[in-house]
Amino acid sequence: MRQNDPDVAPEVVVVGAGCAGIAAARALAAAGKSCVVLEGGPRVGGRAYTATLGGAPFDHGATWLHQANENPLTPFVGAHIDHDTVRGRHLHLGDRFATRVEMADYLRACDVFEEAIANAPQEPDRAVSEVVPKDGRWDATIGHWLGAQINAAELSLISLRDYVAVDLEGPNLLPREGLGTLVARLAEGLPIRLNHAVTRLRWDGPGVVAEGAWGSLRAGAAIVTVSTGVLASGGLRFAPDLPPGVMEAIHGLPLGLLTKYGFRATGHRRLGMPPFHSARREGAGGMSWIFWPFERDHVFGFVGGARAWELSRQGPAATEEAARADFTAMFGAQGAALLGEAVITDWGTNPLFRGSYTHARPGHHESRAVLSRPLGGGRLRFAGEACHSRFAGTVAGAWLSGEAAARDLLDKTAAVADPS
Ligand SMILES: Cc1cc2nc3c(=O)[nH]c(=O)nc-3n(C[C@H](O)[C@H](O)[C@H](O)COP(=O)(O)OP(=O)(O)OC[C@H]3O[C@@H](n4cnc5c(N)ncnc54)[C@H](O)[C@@H]3O)c2cc1C
Repeated sequence: MRQNDPDVAPEVVVVGAGCAGIAAARALAAAGKSCVVLEGGPRVGGRAYTATLGGAPFDHGATWLHQANENPLTPFVGAHIDHDTVRGRHLHLGDRFATRVEMADYLRACDVFEEAIANAPQEPDRAVSEVVPKDGRWDATIGHWLGAQINAAELSLISLRDYVAVDLEGPNLLPREGLGTLVARLAEGLPIRLNHAVTRLRWDGPGVVAEGAWGSLRAGAAIVTVSTGVLASGGLRFAPDLPPGVMEAIHGLPLGLLTKYGFRATGHRRLGMPPFHSARREGAGGMSWIFWPFERDHVFGFVGGARAWELSRQGPAATEEAARADFTAMFGAQGAALLGEAVITDWGTNPLFRGSYTHARPGHHESRAVLSRPLGGGRLRFAGEACHSRFAGTVAGAWLSGEAAARDLLDKTAAVADPS
């Protein structure tokens, strides 16, 4: 590998040290390219970040390795559990949990709902909400679950074609150390400069210049991995401006919001919930919960979509209060009294992210491909979860897209060096 001399312009500058940036930098380093990763925040991992709750690992963002059979991070995972093998599911009906029979009925309705999506004609592209059943007993609950709680946006906001293209079936692994810890380990030894927010990227040639309050850095090419939320808000500007088609792709891929919260909790024989079980509430407004992962003294959950944005705007205390109320609705005041110290994440307000992960707006299913195309003769490439179709919105998609951007750049450079 070439040395990264701070006085010598690197061949490649990578903007952002999340999964995509780390994967790109690893691929470039393995090929002997000099590169520097400029990260705006004080840590690596981006939306994959493990902190602690009650002394135990707690992921603020990415939590599961989805589709583990094909996830590029599976080979690196240490101790873990396949969540699907231990996750009993519970549905709360307002005054009690669903019986086995009701649960079976609900799960059958889930299959019907998902089949309606999978089998709907994809032309013309339209919102997922237009093709799903609406009149069944469970349909509002299922729509809320698949929209706000899983995709971080209501189904009325999501492109059917993009939704169907995403394939996250397969095992969901929970790494014991936390997914953020795993990702941070994969960044070790890379030439990453923390607290180096890039505010402007010049790509008028011959190479690129990244600029920020810390100074500037010239490089041969750039791989930009910041979220589409950052790009759409002007958190990183370009000179010259990005072409209109690219701006349209960025706006076609907004970030939804999934706010994760965790509470330290002990006592009351753990509410009769075995470790790793999950619960959600009937209706179109409920949050979701996972109990006692790895036997830890904590519970965590999510609120997504429009409600998450509204709570985020009000501040973390509002999300905490709403989560406590949701828990009270299931377990009463006595159960809710178990909830102690809280961690409330802030992906919506954080200017380094501005949301959780992307969905394509109806009619914008081509945006991921558009955003992935090199610009300026290969001087500028975008990568990140927004740029991967099959694993969009996940660490797997981010990782594969970062690797792909680096490989494409390496291939083009090799072709120029050896025109034969
Ligand atoms: C609550 C939540 C739950 C999730 N659950 C899962 C899950 O279970 N499984 C899963 O696979 N995925 C999950 N995801 C999604 C997953 O975390 C992301 O898809 C993935 O981490 C995105 O990686 P990335 O490299 O594309 O972007 P990021 O992680 O956002 O990396 C971009 C980096 O750029 C930095 N940056 C921003 N602006 C600048 C700037 N101007 N200059 C320099 N640096 C800048 C940021 O600080 C960040 O580090 C979840 C996300 C959230 C928020």
